[in-house]
Amino acid sequence: MKKLDYIIVGLGLAGIAFCEELEKAGKTFVVFDNGKDGASRVAAGLYNPVILKRYTLPWKAVEQFDLAIPYYKRLEKKLRVQCMTPLPVRKVFSSVEDQNNWFAASDQPSLERFVSPQLISNKNQWIKAPNDYGEVLETGRVDIKKLQKHYQEYLMSKGAFAKASFIHSNITFNKNSVIYDDYEASRIVFAEGHGVKQNLYFKNLPLVGNKGEYLIIKAPDLQLNAAIKTSFFIVPMGDDLYKVGATFNWTDKDSVPSVKAREELVEKLASLLTCTYEIVDQEAGVRPTTGDRRALLGVHPKYNQLVLLNGLGTRGIMASPLLAKYLFDFLEKGIPLPDEVNMMRFPKKFE
Ligand SMILES: Cc1cc2nc3c(=O)[nH]c(=O)nc-3n(C[C@H](O)[C@H](O)[C@H](O)COP(=O)(O)OP(=O)(O)OC[C@H]3O[C@@H](n4cnc5c(N)ncnc54)[C@H](O)[C@@H]3O)c2cc1C
Repeated sequence: MKKLDYIIVGLGLAGIAFCEELEKAGKTFVVFDNGKDGASRVAAGLYNPVILKRYTLPWKAVEQFDLAIPYYKRLEKKLRVQCMTPLPVRKVFSSVEDQNNWFAASDQPSLERFVSPQLISNKNQWIKAPNDYGEVLETGRVDIKKLQKHYQEYLMSKGAFAKASFIHSNITFNKNSVIYDDYEASRIVFAEGHGVKQNLYFKNLPLVGNKGEYLIIKAPDLQLNAAIKTSFFIVPMGDDLYKVGATFNWTDKDSVPSVKAREELVEKLASLLTCTYEIVDQEAGVRPTTGDRRALLGVHPKYNQLVLLNGLGTRGIMASPLLAKYLFDFLEKGIPLPDEVNMMRFPKKFE
């Protein structure tokens, strides 16, 4: 039996960020991940601090952002891999009123760092953007798939990774520890994304899940060097490939590409693109979203060895380092969790 400080279940953005907190503090751990369809494997990987529907900032946006950028840079160094690239994000204005709202946002002290007041005129003949673009500043893309692959290899080289499904009913509880497989650990941190719906201990929490789908298109004429946002994104991936999407579907909770989403995205593309393209792939995943758009962190009220790190929602790249830090500081330093992300805001879900 190997004694450890932590077992972590899930190696998406949440699991990786928590591993990093543990490594910084010299804690011992092992990660279980089954390699199935997590949200992190599908995400386009954009980081963009502005909500482009309303021109507002998400919760703790500046704190999230200022922690996340150096965090990914450190990870690149540690893993010796390049996975973060600056990439402009441009919003297509739908009308003159939309443009005015953008200017108003760029004037607000909280937004001026990220919202450029300079309009950019569209010079790409294959894109319909008659009202110009607004540009978000300090944006980019993280190749999450690549990051996950290299992080997993790193953990394997330390003997700290098991590619396996974690079976919740196989946990044995001691007074101050748990036994699972060949490990005895003080705590298990569940970072399972939408997989939490199979978790006996946390499945009643209001993690709703939102299915998102992308088309991957090849469009050699398009030659875009920025991500373009209208009611959806076109994100350049290199080699004339672009991710188009994603859709938002609150009903379906599977990771199977659908004809409905394909048709929706083809129709939307027709309103923006005039060049020819070929659809080369389609991907789907479930975002771990909550009704109140806040994460779910905390310790199970009946089994204090069981911990949750979930609810990263639609912006896991920016959110994961700060949420992992909050959780670590709570568990190891006794610093209270912010009320907004404390899962005990739903006490009835544990009755
Ligand atoms: C279509 C789409 C587009 C997105 N685009 C962006 C974007 O551009 N920018 C951005 O910041 N965010 C984006 N997101 C959101 C982002 O992907 C999520 O917030 C984030 O990936 C969630 O990370 P996670 O680690 O909580 O969950 P996941 O990435 O789902 O990871 C959970 C992991 O746990 C594993 N697992 C679950 N249960 C078990 C078990 N019992 N045993 C073993 N392993 C288990 C799964 O296999 C998975 O690897 C997007 C999401 C989707 C679906």
